[in-house]
Amino acid sequence: MRIIHDIGEMQAASRAARVQGLTIGFVPTMGALHEGHLSLVRHARAHASLIVVSIFVNPLQFGPSEDFARYPRTLQSDCAKLEGEGVDLVFAPSAEQMYPAGATTVVHVQELSERLDGRSRPGHFRGVSTVVAKLFHIVQPDCAVFGQKDAAQVAVLRRMVRDLNMPIEMIVAPIVREADGLALSSRNAYLSADERRQWLVLHRALQQVAALANSGETDSERLRAAALAILASEPAAQLDYFEIIDQDTLEAVADISNGALAAVAASFGKTRLIDNLLLPERQRPERRL
Ligand code: AMP
Repeated sequence: MRIIHDIGEMQAASRAARVQGLTIGFVPTMGALHEGHLSLVRHARAHASLIVVSIFVNPLQFGPSEDFARYPRTLQSDCAKLEGEGVDLVFAPSAEQMYPAGATTVVHVQELSERLDGRSRPGHFRGVSTVVAKLFHIVQPDCAVFGQKDAAQVAVLRRMVRDLNMPIEMIVAPIVREADGLALSSRNAYLSADERRQWLVLHRALQQVAALANSGETDSERLRAAALAILASEPAAQLDYFEIIDQDTLEAVADISNGALAAVAASFGKTRLIDNLLLPERQRPERRL
């Protein structure tokens, strides 16, 4: 496995791979890798012959009072995990190379970037779309894999790829969870044992929505009310949002019959976590002739 820090060297490696007829599958990450990230690598492998993983803690997507400085940085053990997965190339640039003095160009997916996490984290999605657009230009992948865990990010990036005609297939992989339902996240490392237990309330709220939807409830307000009641039972959870929305536009839907996304964000102590659940389109009962 080759580890590349330099942008020009990465672009040259991609060009060489293309000349050899290889297809490039790309998994962008901020490192502190866990099974969720590794599942994306496995999805990429099923779609492409050369796998590139980037590790870059992107300063542009953190707000001034967020956890950029304390975000876990574990490049060595990350590379060991990626080597175990048969990854071909790790791209780990410096912030100075990615954003040299005087860099002023950004990619901003309007409207979508101001919804969900974008509302409480101003500038976050502009930072995400800008860095992913840059990484796409550097790695030049045929396909890129993202986790459903960050559902709003998926909507923003899909729109960016469509609007800017980027010739990249977007692949979305399901959320990987611990046995008790906790969605894996690099930020779980911040949680105390108590917070970890309290955090499960998010999963319980989503499960309740799934159970009600399964038993035929389609009214979003009623589903939301049921989830909010569960979330209110955990005083340690400072709720940011619980929304039932269209997964592409991130706008509220009144009825989930055509499918919807239930998305939640809350803080526990200093740690903000997100989770979500896709509610499938309801099968309409077959009409008797
Ligand atoms: P991050 O390093 O947090 O920026 O995440 C890099 C990629 O891994 C993103 O596409 C995330 O959505 C994805 N990811 C993070 N956690 C999970 C998880 N538990 N299951 C699936 N994908 C995940």
